[in-house]
Amino acid sequence: MAGKDVATMKIAGKVWKNGKFINWDDARVHVMTHAINYGSSVFEGIRCYETSKSSAVFRLTEHMQRLLNSAKVYRMDPTFTRAELCDSAVELIRQSELDSCYLRPLIIRGLDEEKPAFGVNPFGNPIDTYICGWQWGKYLGEEALENGIDVCVSSWTRITSNSMPAMAKAGANYMNSQLIKMEALLGGFSEGIALDDRGYVSEGSGENIFLVNNGKLITPPLGASILPGITRDSVIEIAREMGIPVLETSIQRSALYLADEVFFTGTAAEITPIRSVDHITVGTGKCGEMTKALQTEFFKIIDATRPAPFGANWLTFVADTGEKKTAVA
Ligand code: PMP
Repeated sequence: MAGKDVATMKIAGKVWKNGKFINWDDARVHVMTHAINYGSSVFEGIRCYETSKSSAVFRLTEHMQRLLNSAKVYRMDPTFTRAELCDSAVELIRQSELDSCYLRPLIIRGLDEEKPAFGVNPFGNPIDTYICGWQWGKYLGEEALENGIDVCVSSWTRITSNSMPAMAKAGANYMNSQLIKMEALLGGFSEGIALDDRGYVSEGSGENIFLVNNGKLITPPLGASILPGITRDSVIEIAREMGIPVLETSIQRSALYLADEVFFTGTAAEITPIRSVDHITVGTGKCGEMTKALQTEFFKIIDATRPAPFGANWLTFVADTGEKKTAVA
């Protein structure tokens, strides 16, 4: 099952659904599916890179663990183990002949058409697990990684932990993200930064955020209603190995304007410098020195030209097997 072209995008010809490979065109749901009506889905976004050795998935085990964690919060009994999900993701890439791609594992509350349950109560609905894959370029544009982007602080508050837990990567959370993203784009910015319900910096619509001040790296703590980003964790580990002090602490809005450097992290955004916030230039208005240094190490790791920090294993080579042998930290 080779990949197929849709518009300018190459997609995997098959989708993994509940343990089987089905045709991409058959991966459809009924409009009365619970997930469509009530937002009951959890998902992941994972990148597979064409490295200097062969194709490898970045931090696959950690992503699949976060998927299972998200499902647990929403009482969605996962039918598959982490190892099975990892193996299936690798198998999908292997069979679809995509050298580099973006993977979208997804667990949804589906619809039993023989015994439909249309109410909010989710328990009567089946749990369906999917993995899709496609080739995806740089999320915020190729140029963004080099020159940085212009962002704004959103007028929308980030979801709060006691209503919509940001710790779970649920589809419904992205209604909040969409409000943030649309407002930013319509205002002429590339992205928006949301403040949490206390007014402290939280994250972008689909990215974690870091500030650099006097040689220190500063990022909001998990309590600021952020997704525990895997790129965020990667940057923290790289910085620690480089001897850069890392502080996870509450950040005021005005600190964004006064920082030496600010950057976003995310699977899609990778490490993207921010050159201005609310039209106020950050630092020199260019990609800062520390951002550049972290980017360089990050790109070496995803290219398999240097190991992950502290001997960790962050790459799952598609030519090998699925789940890594090493345990997740
Ligand atoms: N925050 C949000 C809201 C996101 O959607 C993402 C992207 N998954 C991130 C942060 C970054 O997380 P990660 O580095 O794991 O992709």
